[in-house]
Amino acid sequence: MKFRVIPVTAFQQNCTLCWCEETMQAAVIDPGGDVAKIEAAIKEEGLQLEKILLTHAHIDHAGGTAEIKALHQVPIEGPHKGDLYWIEGLAKQSEMFGFPKVGDFMPDRWLEDGDVVTVGKQTLQVLHCPGHTPGHVVFFDKSAGMAQVGDVIFQGSIGRTDFPGGNHQQLIDSIRKKLFALGDEIEFIPGHGPASTLGYEKRTNPFVSDHRG
Ligand SMILES: [Zn+2]
Ligand SMILES: [Zn+2]
Repeated sequence: MKFRVIPVTAFQQNCTLCWCEETMQAAVIDPGGDVAKIEAAIKEEGLQLEKILLTHAHIDHAGGTAEIKALHQVPIEGPHKGDLYWIEGLAKQSEMFGFPKVGDFMPDRWLEDGDVVTVGKQTLQVLHCPGHTPGHVVFFDKSAGMAQVGDVIFQGSIGRTDFPGGNHQQLIDSIRKKLFALGDEIEFIPGHGPASTLGYEKRTNPFVSDHRG
C-alpha cells in the first residue's frame, strides 16, 4: 500500500491517503477538514476513493467526513463504537474549537479489535487502542510495516487523556501491550507531527519507554 500525508485544519492533523497500487482504489484516513486539499490530492494521484476510515472522532480527525461522503458516496468505517458520543457531539466540538460548521454522519461500520479493512486488494488490520478516546482504533498495514496511529502516540509524546472519556493507564496499556507488540521496525504516522518507528519510541519516548526513571 502507498501512503500520502496531507496536513489539514488549524491543528495540522495528518490526514492520510492510502491506496492499492494495483487497483488505484484508496481510503482516506481521518479527513478532519480542508476537504478541497484532500480532493486535490486524490485527483493528483489518480485515485478512486473507496472508503473513509476514522481512527477516532475528534473534530480535527473527523470534521470533513460528511462532506467527503457526500462527494464520493463511499462508506465510513471506524472508529470503535466507544466514540459514538464524540460523533454525536461533533457540532459542539466544532463550536468549541472554532472549526467551520460540520455535517452529521454515522459510521457504516463500527470497528472492533481484530477486524480487517480492505483497500483495493490490500488489507489493514484493526487494533482497538483506547485511552485518548474510548473508541480509538489503529490501522496496521502488515506488509508495508506501517501503522496509522492517530492520537495514541507521537514522536516523543503520547495522546492527551484529559478529555471526557480519556484514561491515562488505558492509553499506556494500549501502547505498550498492543502497539509495541507489532515490532520495533514498524513505522507509524501519528495524528500530528513527524513519523517515527515503534522501536525508536520504545527506547526514547519518556512516557512509555523501557528506560523510565
Ligand atoms: Zn484526538
Ligand atoms: Zn488530533
